This record gives sequence, structure tokens and C-alpha cells, in this order.
Amino acid sequence: MSPHAELVSRLRAAWLSGKTRPMEYRVAQLEALGRFLDEKQQDILEATAADMRKPPFEVEVSELSICRSELNHTLNNLGAWMKDKHVEKNWATQLDSAFIRKDPYGVVLIIGPWNYPINLLLVPLIGAIAAGNCVVMKPSEITRNVERLVAETLPRYLDEDCFAVVTAGVEETTRLLENKFDYIFFTGSPSVGRIVMTAAAKHLTPVTLELGGKNPCYVSDSCNVQNVARRVAWGRFFNAGQTCVAPDYVLCSAEMQEKLLPALREAITEFYGPNPRESPDFGRIVGDRQFQRVQALLHSGHTAIGGQTDAEERYIAPTVLVEVQQNDPVMQEEIFGPILPILTVDSVDDAIAFINARERPLVLYVFSSRKEVVNRVLERTSSGGFCANDTIMHMTIPSLPFGGIGQSGLGSYHGRSSFETFSHQRSALLRGAGRETLNTPRYPPYAPHRLPLLRAATETKRRATCLLL
Ligand code: NAD
Repeated sequence: MSPHAELVSRLRAAWLSGKTRPMEYRVAQLEALGRFLDEKQQDILEATAADMRKPPFEVEVSELSICRSELNHTLNNLGAWMKDKHVEKNWATQLDSAFIRKDPYGVVLIIGPWNYPINLLLVPLIGAIAAGNCVVMKPSEITRNVERLVAETLPRYLDEDCFAVVTAGVEETTRLLENKFDYIFFTGSPSVGRIVMTAAAKHLTPVTLELGGKNPCYVSDSCNVQNVARRVAWGRFFNAGQTCVAPDYVLCSAEMQEKLLPALREAITEFYGPNPRESPDFGRIVGDRQFQRVQALLHSGHTAIGGQTDAEERYIAPTVLVEVQQNDPVMQEEIFGPILPILTVDSVDDAIAFINARERPLVLYVFSSRKEVVNRVLERTSSGGFCANDTIMHMTIPSLPFGGIGQSGLGSYHGRSSFETFSHQRSALLRGAGRETLNTPRYPPYAPHRLPLLRAATETKRRATCLLL
């Protein structure tokens, strides 16, 4: 048996023993995860700085605080989420009990990306533990320091019978995926998402795919340009642009572009000073391969702001591109770096047509002080999430399900949605063992005169609509 197969079968045996099911067990593991976050905070800050010079403030906001918030929200609500949900019954089952049990799947595999290596591994883990599963975690090998920290220290906090960290590159992850898991939760690129889904299909394993793509940001003519510039620049240049929910490109009128450019320049200088390279608040591209890819996208259109690079440091300045064409390289793939192209459109309907002609994004941003404009875009487009007059902030609410649609993903998580993602909705009917005469009408030999009675007892009727309401 391969080491991976052995691991999965050891975890499945632990799951089958029932030890992960009691609420007290789940709470104890979640609290232990909280201690990991508290006690290893400094190590996390150092590892993320070593991997991609992530500013400590950004680590606090986007990794630690989000995990703590998710943990507390889960601990505050777990009792209510775990309760059986009793459902409406028909006449035939009035004396019985019919309910939905939130059943754990079993052994779950969580595969994480490198851009928020703590958040995107631990937030799904919180949901998987809360739902009573055993978990194999596979952090990204790209952020080596975080990978090592998680592999060496996290298992010391959790029950090793039920939770394990596997460190693996592409080849080994391919072998890991040959095993039968009961659920796979993947965060990463759409191309690898397809590979993961294909591997899962071999075992008919259900999946959640949290993928990426190009998030449009429509800026209407009616808005406070300074506020828009700050909110867009923050969302685009946070983590040096390596954020799945970053606004990927701006759509606006030519007149708005004229006003937005100086406001963006001002916002960038206000955030990172005259030379962002010297700012402690601006990160770096994670690796050389990723640097080369992002740098190549700078050749699209005309550079209006920024554009400076340094391969040694993997530095790319906060950059704004104008005169970008739809078929330029920067518009062919998710940018995932600190580059913001602006494309001009004539109207909100042009923007909607532009968005609808492309893959459905993970999130769609709209800036407008006019509710009609915001609602028009919300009504006429489709995306994983939607946020008006800000960027990224929709992710800070654990009760909003987070996930993509189409090319940007499948399924969702955060808060209750995580708990439900990692729970099988098991339907249960507990009937009494007696009262057999009540069952007789349905048995052969069939008697047609009993049919009306049977229908009355089991069929759902359309509710009458009250014309006065
Ligand atoms: P990636 O798809 O390259 O890697 C993600 C994970 O998959 C890593 O753990 C990696 O080891 C593994 N992997 C890579 N190739 C594999 C293969 N052939 N077979 C099996 N496993 C493989 O993604 P990334 O570069 O780490 O992250 C960037 C992407 O993730 C972007 O597209 C971004 O938008 C997306 N993302 C999405 C979300 C979200 O919540 N929707 C969040 C963060 C990142």
C-alpha cells in the first residue's frame, strides 16, 4: 500500500470509529486551531514575509483576522447548525419523524493555493472540522516557508488520528488524487481545477472548486472619483495584486478615465509613497516564473502609471494601463499581479454586454451613486459574488456564501455555507413499527377504490392563493 493510501485508510478508520461526531470533539479541535493561530502568529508573519514579503498588516487583515473571525462565527453557531432539521410531512407520515441530518462526508482532501496560504487552507479546514470530517490538507508548495510551518506545527495542535498535512508538488499531488476521498475542496486555477475534478470523477467524489478569473469593475459616470480610486487601488494592489477577488480591469467612459487616472495616481502615492518599491506596505510577486508571466502583461496598451520592474526582487510597481484592446495579452488571462488595465465603454449597457461576452467572474464590482445603475448591472449579469461601491469587502462577512460560478468555480463556503458544504444532507424518516392497518391500502393486490385515499395521504396539493394579499 502506498503511504498516501495508508494515510487515507487510517483516517477513514478513525472517522468510522465515530470519534469526530460529538460536538465537544469538534469544538475542542476548533479551539486547538485557535491556539495554533495565537501561538504561531509571529512564525506566520515571518514565513509569509520570507515567501513573498507580505506586509504584516496585510497578513493580519487577510490571513489571521479572517481565520479568527471564521473560527468564532463557527463556534458561536455550531450547536444550531448541527441540529436536525425537521421537515413538513404528508398525511401518511404524520405520526413519524422526518428530518435532515447534517452528516459528515468522511475523509476530506483540502488543496490550497499560495496567495493566501494560511487563510485558504484553514478557513475550509474550519468548515470540515465543524461538520465532523477527517481531513488531509495539501498546502501549496510554492510558498515553501508557510508549507513547512504548517506541516511541522499544525499537526501538534490537532488530533493526529483524524487530521494530517501532506506536502506535495504536482507529481505527488497527482498520486494523492488517485486515492478515494469522500470530498475534495480545491482552491486554485481553473486549469488545475479541471485536473482535480477529473481525478474526483473516477471515484464519483463530490468537489468544491474555488477558482479564479477576470473580475470586471465598472465605474459609472456618477460617483465620487477619489473614493473609487482609493477603493479600487486598495483591492488591486493588496498582496501585490495576487488576490482572486481583486478587480482585474476597469470599464468606464472616456470622460471617467480622464478623471480616474489622476485620482488613481494620487491614491497610489498616498498608499505607497513616491517610490512604492521602498514602501513596507507593498508586497512582491511570489516566484520567478510568476514574475516573468506578470511582467509580460505590461506590454499591453500604454502605461499611464507605474510600469517599473526589478526581476531580482520580483518587484512590479503598481501599474495602470490605458488604451488597452480586448485582444491584448493582459485581457486574455487573469492578471494576478499589480496591473490595472482600463478599457473604455460608452454606456452601462455596453459594460454589461462586455461582461456577458466573457466567462462568468468570481466577483463583479460596480461603482455608482445611482441605485438604478447598480441594480441594472446586478440584474443583467451573472458572477460568483457582487459588490457595489467597494472591492473585496464582501468577503469579510462570514454569513455571505463565497464561491464562483462557471469558469470561476463550483460550490461555496464561509460560515454556515462551509458547514453545509462539508455536510451531507442525509434525509431520514423514522417510522413507528406498528399501526399496520394504516399501511394496508398501498399493498397488493391493488384495489383501485383505495387510490383516492392513498393520494390524499401522500400527494402534495397546490396551496390556494389569497387574492386579498
Ligand atoms: P494552482 O492551481 O497552480 O495550484 C493550486 C494547488 O494545486 C497547489 O496546492 C498546487 O500544488 C496544486 N497543483 C498544481 N498543479 C497541479 C496538478 N497538475 N495536479 C494536482 N495538483 C496541482 O493555483 P495557484 O497558482 O496556487 O493559485 C492561483 C490561482 O488560484 C488563481 O487562478 C486564483 O484566482 C485562484 N484562487 C482562487 C481563490 C478562490 O477563492 N476562488 C482564492 C485564491 C486563489
